[in-house]
Amino acid sequence: MRIQLQQVNVPLGYDEAFVLQRVSRKIGCAPALLSNLKITRRSLDARPRNPEPIYVLTVEVDVALESLPKTAEIPTITRVAEEEVRGQESGVRRNEEEVRLRPIVVGAGPAGLLAAYQLAKAGARPILIERGEDAASRTPKVAAFWNDGTLDPESNVLYGEGGAGLFSDGKLTARSKERGRIRTFMELLHACGADESVLIDSEPHVGSDALLRIVPRLRERIIAAGGEVRFNARLDSLVIEAGQLRAVVVNGQEIACSHCVLAVGHSARDVYAMLAEKGVALQPKPFAVGIRLEIPQVAIDRAQYGRFAGSPRLGAASFRLTRREEKGIRSCYSFCMCPGGKVISCASEPGFMTTNGMSYSKRSLPHGNAAFLVPVGPTDYPEHPVPALAGLEFQRKLERDAYAAAGGGYRVPAIRLLDFLMKTVPSSLPSGRSCPTSSPVEFRTILPEFITRTLEKTIPSMLKELNGVKLDEAILYAPETRSSSPLWIERNPEGESVNTKGLFPVGEGAGYAGGIVSSAIDGMRTAERLF
Ligand SMILES: Cc1cc2nc3c(=O)[nH]c(=O)nc-3n(C[C@H](O)[C@H](O)[C@H](O)COP(=O)(O)OP(=O)(O)OC[C@H]3O[C@@H](n4cnc5c(N)ncnc54)[C@H](O)[C@@H]3O)c2cc1C
Repeated sequence: MRIQLQQVNVPLGYDEAFVLQRVSRKIGCAPALLSNLKITRRSLDARPRNPEPIYVLTVEVDVALESLPKTAEIPTITRVAEEEVRGQESGVRRNEEEVRLRPIVVGAGPAGLLAAYQLAKAGARPILIERGEDAASRTPKVAAFWNDGTLDPESNVLYGEGGAGLFSDGKLTARSKERGRIRTFMELLHACGADESVLIDSEPHVGSDALLRIVPRLRERIIAAGGEVRFNARLDSLVIEAGQLRAVVVNGQEIACSHCVLAVGHSARDVYAMLAEKGVALQPKPFAVGIRLEIPQVAIDRAQYGRFAGSPRLGAASFRLTRREEKGIRSCYSFCMCPGGKVISCASEPGFMTTNGMSYSKRSLPHGNAAFLVPVGPTDYPEHPVPALAGLEFQRKLERDAYAAAGGGYRVPAIRLLDFLMKTVPSSLPSGRSCPTSSPVEFRTILPEFITRTLEKTIPSMLKELNGVKLDEAILYAPETRSSSPLWIERNPEGESVNTKGLFPVGEGAGYAGGIVSSAIDGMRTAERLF
């Protein structure tokens, strides 16, 4: 009999024998009756009120008993069903007749990579096209962009193999309930070189340096399974006849296709404009805008771990803060926290810039940063002849103003939190900040008043929750505009565009996913339906 046990508490330095002992005590049987122990989930509990930091595990184990002793009849123990033990069936072809031509996948971000992998495994021989370069060629372009502001509009922090997820924090946070697909994705990352911890940690993290190794191996698997990957291949247009996709136009050349998975992310504004022009159904979507706040990591660790702060086993601490809407101010929430990371400039269009955060696998840099975002919607910005593109134009205005205010060269506008709160025009910035290519800017020249008013009121009270963090240690960077898509490419429950047969919009750019994991499983799910 195989059982699952939750809430198995162990010290940070646990080993398998220790876990077996804990399990045997919990279910009231001898350790010799237990075998095939597998840790399926691990979360850190380092609250200062605990006597010591612990891991809380969920484990599966075989028990050499037909029925469990009475003491085991507690809700944290369940029997594992036979089909879960066997695992998922895979590679079932469903639609071979219908998908006559090789399916095209556009975009090699998490959504496109996983769609292409799934299609290749099912025998559909997909062609994956990516406007940017492979990860290795992209890396020096990104370094040049950060060092001296040289932008390659086709291969940059947002475009190229790995998509926006490559030079990222590499947090693999998953809120979806689709445990099977999440597991498949994590196992694939592990098979491509990610640390084993991605299989069990409740908040896994890989880091940008590891992603640079993992993503090319994933590409190799797509090719080995019969897929083809073309870099420097940009989708320019779609050929649609009577509501049916007939071909994609790539670098000016038509490729006939009956099915295309569109996984272009939400930075590809030229693609959105092309879709609008072709009459593909789009809908405006609420999103969020704000700033990125940076504070010393030691202060975050002290606030979160108390007396345990500094323990090498704990790693850099994270936080999540929220503040409800109140009279005169909107809600605000922290997003995409990057412990031990750095703030970066991002751009895919000349003359427009936005900010974000990234980290390496060790998360050992001296600062932590997170976006602080305020929700925005269609009533906040001017109307547009194509209503779905109004939010995108709002983002563009902020990004253009930010580029100009920081003096060009994709420098990031920045200000000390205290200067921002006191409405002081900044003349300098702390020398130890994580983003040296930033310039002092008064944020009221680039962000709308309803956003700065909300941030002024909410940030100080939100930071109070991080006991001991001082306001004068915080630096703000702006604008944070691309946390999610400003529109939906409308699709039906099968994942197909509601008015263009054969077009399957997926991932963050379609508006139905956000983040690496949810984009990846969105791509995977659509590909499963397709073939
Ligand atoms: C700096 C940074 C840090 C982040 N950190 C995290 C994190 O820690 N955890 C997390 O979950 N999420 C993070 N994110 C968000 C995450 O990266 C995205 O949610 C995710 O990458 C979206 O996946 P996607 O495949 O839908 O789109 P994308 O990753 O944007 O990929 C789209 C791809 O399509 C390509 N493309 C676009 N247009 C065309 C075209 N016309 N023809 C051909 N190809 C095209 C692009 O070049 C790109 O490679 C971060 C994002 C950034 C920018």
